[in-house]
Amino acid sequence: MTLPSWLGEHWRQLSARLQRNELPHALLICGDAGLGKRALASALAKAALCDSRLGDGHACGICRACQLLSAGSHPDHVPIEFEPRDDGKLRSEITVEQIRKLSQRLSLSTQYGGLQVVIIDPADKMNTSAANALLKTLEEPSASTVILLVSDRPARLPATIRSRCQRIELRNPEPGLARGWLEAQGVTVETAEAALACALGNPGEALNAINSNAMGLRDECAKDLLGLRTARISALTVAEAWAGDRPAQRLWHAAVIARDEALHLANGKPGRLGLTGAKEIPKLAAWFAAANRSRELLDTQLRSELVMLDLLHTWQMPRRP
Ligand SMILES: [Zn+2]
Repeated sequence: MTLPSWLGEHWRQLSARLQRNELPHALLICGDAGLGKRALASALAKAALCDSRLGDGHACGICRACQLLSAGSHPDHVPIEFEPRDDGKLRSEITVEQIRKLSQRLSLSTQYGGLQVVIIDPADKMNTSAANALLKTLEEPSASTVILLVSDRPARLPATIRSRCQRIELRNPEPGLARGWLEAQGVTVETAEAALACALGNPGEALNAINSNAMGLRDECAKDLLGLRTARISALTVAEAWAGDRPAQRLWHAAVIARDEALHLANGKPGRLGLTGAKEIPKLAAWFAAANRSRELLDTQLRSELVMLDLLHTWQMPRRP
């Protein structure tokens, strides 16, 4: 199994601890989406259950345990994820029943005499009762159990749970590593650069942006912002268009575009959106924050058009300091 290069150091440390039989009872693997949390948790679970690990610490992929695992029937591998409801649709939370079943299962000894490995993903989607039930399990650690909690938003987990886990935090890699990884996926250097700028340096999100044609959407948003600044279109027209089609993504792009514009001006280059000079940078910083706040407001009862219009007015009208 190949993990992205920026996970190399995390992997070396984790696999060395596994080799010494010193993995902690619970690990919280967290960081933004797109950085490889799931790949890391999955590689660790496979390695922990494999009967003959390779020299680099990864699972062999061919022993009986590996075969059972890849068939989804290893008795000591316990994935906890969203389960389907009665109508077949996936739930959007992890329930207390799931965690109770998990506790019962963990109270039995392991079937193969090795470790029992649990992956709770996304851990921050446990509801309150589920989190309380898990806390009991975390308070009574068993030597043969490793619980991996995977989360994009660890702050949403109760502090009592976080404090009982060792935390592994994934961060954006060096730009060179991120670019190299994208190129290895068949992305050209220019597209990789543009997509990484669009995704604030997060390689997985950059690849998503390319695959979902988000780059086109970003160009559209930049065009609208330029049109507003030069009064070629009205804020109302743009607000309606943005509210009607992928509003959250557009606001994300709008924020990133402002950030890029500020970086551009800070480097003494001319602005690309009708802005001139470094004096605009504080406004762009304010806009970055405002676009992100507006994105959060989309989840509330407020009408998207109004949220957009409020924000776009501040872009349209030059504000005097
Ligand atoms: Zn194996």
